[in-house]
Amino acid sequence: MKNQLFHIAGGGIAGLASALAVANTGNSALVMEKAAKFEALGAGLQLGPNAVRALQKLGAWDAVEPITSSPPEILIRDGRSGKTLKRLELGKKFETRFGAPYRVAHRADLLQALLSVAKSKSNITIQTNAEVIARDIFDGYALIAADGVWSKTREALFPGHAAIISNDIIHRNLSDDVVNECVNLWLYPGGHVVHYPVGQSPKLNLLAVTQGTDVDAHFSMACEELRQILKHKSWSQWPAAYVPPLHRWNKGKIILIGDAAHGTLPYLAQGAAMAIEDAVTLGEVLALRKEPDSAFEKLSELRVQRTQKLHHSSRSAGHFYHLNGISAAMRNAIIANIPSHLQLAQMAWIYR
Ligand SMILES: Cc1cc2nc3c(=O)[nH]c(=O)nc-3n(C[C@H](O)[C@H](O)[C@H](O)COP(=O)(O)OP(=O)(O)OC[C@H]3O[C@@H](n4cnc5c(N)ncnc54)[C@H](O)[C@@H]3O)c2cc1C
Repeated sequence: MKNQLFHIAGGGIAGLASALAVANTGNSALVMEKAAKFEALGAGLQLGPNAVRALQKLGAWDAVEPITSSPPEILIRDGRSGKTLKRLELGKKFETRFGAPYRVAHRADLLQALLSVAKSKSNITIQTNAEVIARDIFDGYALIAADGVWSKTREALFPGHAAIISNDIIHRNLSDDVVNECVNLWLYPGGHVVHYPVGQSPKLNLLAVTQGTDVDAHFSMACEELRQILKHKSWSQWPAAYVPPLHRWNKGKIILIGDAAHGTLPYLAQGAAMAIEDAVTLGEVLALRKEPDSAFEKLSELRVQRTQKLHHSSRSAGHFYHLNGISAAMRNAIIANIPSHLQLAQMAWIYR
């Protein structure tokens, strides 16, 4: 199909990536964002090779690449002892293996880069202060609902599929206290910590997951190094929410995409990557199918399995990171002893 107007609810990563996909097929996109301006909440994002490849396919990588940085390694560490359990190299060998690099970026920079590409296209219109009310009867050609994990469109299309708040609380902080250039993952009983630098004048993106509201109290038995990293930080807190798996994302000419369709716990750092992949598949089905409902049916069919697998794997990753006692000791032994190439092989289904 060509020369049709697709309405898009939400101007986050999924909404803007979808607009690019629609525009690339010779159709037009109207992005309606309810906020007054484009401001990304949160701080850092990891962009695995699958996210980079998807951005390349959308024609956005040239704009995105300059705002990313290249961490040399992922360090997996035990938060109690401070011991480094594994160093996963992210250099040339990694890039050759997965066909694209591993990058990190400030979320706001990624959003601005996508916005700049979208604005450069004459067939994309962007409106702010434009809330799409789900109960409105939609009488346009097709609606792509990229309205995030708390999607009202999802609740209208699939009643009973409200987002679920897990027991975990995510604490985020951005500071000047850059520790090293790596992606650092600290495993700890009942929680974990991730940090890496983002931005051109690097800031430390720090994320702590706990089951209570007090970060210092939760990590009171951590090694000195980790306690120093967490010390004197002012945190913004987020409930870790997810969407109960949906078997289909569309009803007729309305489809959910990104977190609205499959918002997941962020423990494999893949939510945005999945949203960008959704957009690539959207472009592919629009190029092949004549009617939006048939294209959306196919998109849902092609994407549900992968995103559900990711949902389950993210949840399992959380359990694994948060083990305690003898289970944690066994986990640490496994991580320390498994060769890096085998550990990366476990991630191949995601990165490829
Ligand atoms: C702590 C944390 C860390 C993460 N780290 C990573 C990571 O490292 N790598 C990764 O790939 N992913 C990561 N993610 C996941 C990633 O942030 C999300 O999957 C991604 O941002 C989802 O994008 P989205 O556009 O679907 O939703 P959102 O970013 O939520 O965007 C939805 C947009 O829709 C707008 N909106 C809502 N309702 C309406 C309406 N009715 N009308 C119009 N507009 C509306 C909102 O204002 C918003 O702009 C992380 C998530 C969290 C919580």
